[in-house]
Amino acid sequence: MPGELTREALGLVVIIKVRCKKCDAETRLSLVDLNYDGLFRCWKCKQPHIFVIENDKIKYFQPLSDEKYGKQLELDL
Ligand SMILES: [Zn+2]
Repeated sequence: MPGELTREALGLVVIIKVRCKKCDAETRLSLVDLNYDGLFRCWKCKQPHIFVIENDKIKYFQPLSDEKYGKQLELDL
C-alpha cells in the first residue's frame, strides 16, 4: 500500500495520507476531486512525488527527479 485515503466527515474533501518514499514522513493532502493526478513535495526532505488517484484509490505514487518535477510543473501551466 503506497498510502491511504480517508474521507473526512466534513464536506466532500478527501484526505490522502502518503508516505514519502525517501524519508518516510507522512504528508496529508486534501482533495475535492476523486480522480486526480498531481504532484507534491515532501515537507521534510523536499523529495517531489507524482501521484494518481482514481475512484478513491491511489493508483500510482512514485518519487520524481527534480528535473522531471520541473517539467511536470511546466505542463500544468
Ligand atoms: Zn521526505
